[in-house]
Amino acid sequence: MSQLSFEELIQHNNKQAKPDTVQKSALPPLATTAAAPDDLFSPTKELSQVDQVQLAPMLKHYLEVKNANPNHVVLYQVGDFYEIFFEDAKTVAEILSIRLTSRDKNDESATPMCGVPLHAVDNYVPKLLDAGISCLFVSQLDETELNAKGKTIVRREITRIVTPGVRFEGDGLTDTQFNFLCVVLPTARKGAELGFIDISLGTLQLATAETPEELLDLIEQISPREAILPATINASPAPEWIKELKTYFSDRHIPFVLRPYNLRPKHDVLEKFASTRGLKSLLVDADLERTLLVDSLVSYLEETACGKPFSIFEARLIDRSTGTVIDASTRRNLELFEARIDGERKNSLFEHINRTKTPMGNRFLRSVLLAPSTNLAEIENRLDAVAELVNRLHDMQKIQAILSGIRDLERILTRVTNGRASPRDLVMLGESLRLFPGLKEIFKNSQAHLLQQLGINFDALEDLATLLNTALREDAPVKLSDGGIFNPGYNSQLDELRTLCDDGKSILLGLEQKERLATGIQSLKVKYNSVFGYFIEVTKTHLKPADGKIPDYFERKQTLVNAERFVTQELKEIEVKLLSARGKAADLERDLFTALRSEVSQHASRIQQSAQVIALIDVITNFASLARSRNYVRPEFSKAPKISIVGGRHPVVENIIGAHAFVPNEAELDGEKRRFAVLSGPNMGGKSTYLRQIGVIQLLAQIGSFVPATKARLSLVDRIFTRIGTADDLARGDSTFMVEMREAATIIRKATSRSLVLIDEIGRGTATSDGLALARSIAEWLHDEAQALTIFATHFHELNALPLSKRAAFCISVGVREQAGHLVFTHRIEDRAADKSYGLEVAKLAGVPEKIIERAKSYITAESKLN
Ligand code: ATP
Repeated sequence: MSQLSFEELIQHNNKQAKPDTVQKSALPPLATTAAAPDDLFSPTKELSQVDQVQLAPMLKHYLEVKNANPNHVVLYQVGDFYEIFFEDAKTVAEILSIRLTSRDKNDESATPMCGVPLHAVDNYVPKLLDAGISCLFVSQLDETELNAKGKTIVRREITRIVTPGVRFEGDGLTDTQFNFLCVVLPTARKGAELGFIDISLGTLQLATAETPEELLDLIEQISPREAILPATINASPAPEWIKELKTYFSDRHIPFVLRPYNLRPKHDVLEKFASTRGLKSLLVDADLERTLLVDSLVSYLEETACGKPFSIFEARLIDRSTGTVIDASTRRNLELFEARIDGERKNSLFEHINRTKTPMGNRFLRSVLLAPSTNLAEIENRLDAVAELVNRLHDMQKIQAILSGIRDLERILTRVTNGRASPRDLVMLGESLRLFPGLKEIFKNSQAHLLQQLGINFDALEDLATLLNTALREDAPVKLSDGGIFNPGYNSQLDELRTLCDDGKSILLGLEQKERLATGIQSLKVKYNSVFGYFIEVTKTHLKPADGKIPDYFERKQTLVNAERFVTQELKEIEVKLLSARGKAADLERDLFTALRSEVSQHASRIQQSAQVIALIDVITNFASLARSRNYVRPEFSKAPKISIVGGRHPVVENIIGAHAFVPNEAELDGEKRRFAVLSGPNMGGKSTYLRQIGVIQLLAQIGSFVPATKARLSLVDRIFTRIGTADDLARGDSTFMVEMREAATIIRKATSRSLVLIDEIGRGTATSDGLALARSIAEWLHDEAQALTIFATHFHELNALPLSKRAAFCISVGVREQAGHLVFTHRIEDRAADKSYGLEVAKLAGVPEKIIERAKSYITAESKLN
């Protein structure tokens, strides 16, 4: 295997060299080039100043590990603590808010250090990962060895590596969180191959980006936590846009690792992942780069796995032609996952529409919201299924009840195939699978195609359910070593050993009885503890030699304050028999469990497919339940561009303020005369809510949900663009106006006649003349060039004249009335331009002093006289 730099790779591909002609060499050490954002860890600089000769052996070893793995923070076990030293200690202490100390407190040049207790380390690791830090654990082994001076030293080894993009659920992942590692490889044809993997779920997604914009879109959509980029990224002739990618990750504090690509023959990679569903077909006819990409991803995973197994169940292609693009600003503006103002999750669209019952359904709902479909057949199929369930209330409730009993099959499966699943995990799997046939039964005799298919093709995994449920006791423990895992009858040898143990109990009782009679001591007891094994306990009151109650064959074993403990030859013999039966039973249970777990992992692909079906059922039922309880309607679709909504509502606002308080609204846009709406009206009138409402209805329709309206006819859109409200991005060094223009520029570059563009305020963050000029020219461009369905909300009343010169432009406004000197917002959309801004009235409402309002009025009067 050979490592190629990015340039070599391009040259290599241009020359069409055969992979197997390349010289073989060993794998590189972990993460060859450090590239964490902001040089978060530049430890080598600092470590190079350390006089290594002076260091204690332990610190020398620490440094060896650190120097070989500069991208990771090394957590080094010293007794009951994981210690971190040098510059990393300062970083970690700050992130975790723990005390920074030093190894020798009296020495000025002392080594900075901090530490976390072993037992609490899992509480700290997620914080480090969230801060973009990779953690490498060096743990103490049980064995010790002698050093040259004959002193005993503790042996240590790298036992675990967790990186922001390679983490499992124990590493602080919630049930519903995705955690993607991304890998990018530029291709000879000026595009890039991309791969995303969530290793906690074992799903790999591949994509090809033809342009830098497509590449960024994909990355934004998936939101990876860590990335692998080709090494020598800064050297010519690396395309400019790869540099842009580096900036993109740095700006967003997403750590990335630069690595050379290994050139491994395609068949090697294919052979290795022969059982990964879908991978073969994605690699066989693809360019070599895709194979290299997968190989690179896998070699990183192998290095981080520290020899432990991991699984990739499925590989699929992200099909850009059938998805609506929802970029990061639209995600934020439509408040899909958190509210913009307070960052609250509970006020997000997701929280308000999520009624899924399983973690699989929850994750699937998230992913469809991020990439709504443009495949009409798929959408209609889902809508048919939702429509049918809306009318089958009883079945809908039954499905939800069943789903509530189904555990996180995908994550259990990952644990099974990684050899980490506990007996409890398999019991939960068995209990979940037991519910499948009942679920399948409900879908028999369905009308909707999707439901019919579920009734026929859903693999209810009855064989596996029977296997698990017959094998395992319902109360099987979490810890394998606790035993008591299998049901009687599962294995005859185990049953025999257990009988022996059980008989042992009655033998012991018999012995106890016999010795009571022999000694006349009624309180004599046969007891057990892990230090002394079995013994006979007699309380002090019966021990006086004069009583002569203790026979000669009682051997004294231990003296307590109130009792004496003895053994007898007979008891010793029983003990040997019992302990050996117990030990054998425990060994056998362990072997049987490992075998059962391997057997289950043979069915990984089936379980994973059924888990995906459960996710789909969950989401469809979710939509049906939502439609029923909130009076949503089925959207219809038109081929020609169209938005025709009657009685439309914003699902979140309606939910928060109450259905009776929300004023439903209409929207009427088409590809002809009503393509470009200029929306005006006072502040607080409801413009932003209206714009978001249209975006959200469009999005819900394209994920196959009913929508909050009394009637909705829409066309499919390829992108939803939003520019709503003001926000700065100080972290990126962007002012409010800069953000506004950046979002506008994206829309201008990318909007097509199949897009939906929702703009709230353009040109407000600068001088009025500049702002107005920009707003007008952007509006004209969107009308003439992009020709997208557009709603353009503005306070520039001058734009209300646009319909005079632009054929497809028209004006709408949010209603407001003045009643007895007070403003009343009707929140109704009217088919006309607003006559004035009501800025002063709203300012008055907000509590601006009367004097200032009067002064402002006088300026307006003076100005109108001048004009
Ligand atoms: P600004 O220009 O100041 O941002 P705006 O016109 O965009 O204001 P919104 O922020 O959308 O106004 O809404 C103002 C208030 O009106 C919000 O509190 C919202 O809950 C309420 N509101 C908006 N639309 C409706 C509606 N259709 N029915 C009832 N209340 C509404």
